Amino acid sequence: MELRAVNTCTPSVFLKWVSHIYAFVYYACIEMYLTCKDILETVPMNPESNRFTLNLGPIDGVHVTKFPNYPDLRGRLFKVYAEGPVPSFPVRFNTFEHFFTESKKGVFRGMHFQGAPHSAAKVITIVKGSAIDFLIDIRQESPTLGSLQIESLSEMTPSSIYIPEGVAHGYISLSDGTIISYRQDVAFCGNCDGGFSGEAVSQHLPIIFANTIRSEKDLNLPALEGFEFHSRCLQ
Ligand SMILES: [Zn+2]
Repeated sequence: MELRAVNTCTPSVFLKWVSHIYAFVYYACIEMYLTCKDILETVPMNPESNRFTLNLGPIDGVHVTKFPNYPDLRGRLFKVYAEGPVPSFPVRFNTFEHFFTESKKGVFRGMHFQGAPHSAAKVITIVKGSAIDFLIDIRQESPTLGSLQIESLSEMTPSSIYIPEGVAHGYISLSDGTIISYRQDVAFCGNCDGGFSGEAVSQHLPIIFANTIRSEKDLNLPALEGFEFHSRCLQ
């Protein structure tokens, strides 16, 4: 019997892959253009009260710090926090709680915050995988109230984000097994645990948000439009 090698990379298969890649890049570029255009033009969230308007950040008090990555034959090392004369952030941070989330590709968590009287500041760090991070300023007294800040997180370029009190946070995982570290400066309080729907962000990024996986709790969060936070804690 004569054996022949089968070449699976035929011209038609090659063209099919080229067309898939072209379509992906094409739609990604369109989404990026529309996202920037919409955000930069400022989109009123509540035309009647004009309470929230989303516009592109940065947000006052948010600090993004990139860290060096030291890969070698064994794996890699990256230091994400240090105190001393040159601390990791321009503010001191006392960790009260430290926890991690692990997420499948396409998971969206957000938009979350812990409000008064037990307001929390956080430091989040990408440990593994990649994600797009979203921050929205909901502090009434803030000069950047209503600003949306978008950060790209990847294990290849380790980074942390300091999130002050009153800034809501969420992210979408872009890879399976994305791990994010959370450090919080006060204890978790279920009565002060607040949040609003990720639709505030998703309307600007429809392709990225299509078919996202969300918890029942996140799906039932109120819209940002007209949102007001009322803690169930006794003041
Ligand atoms: Zn509380």
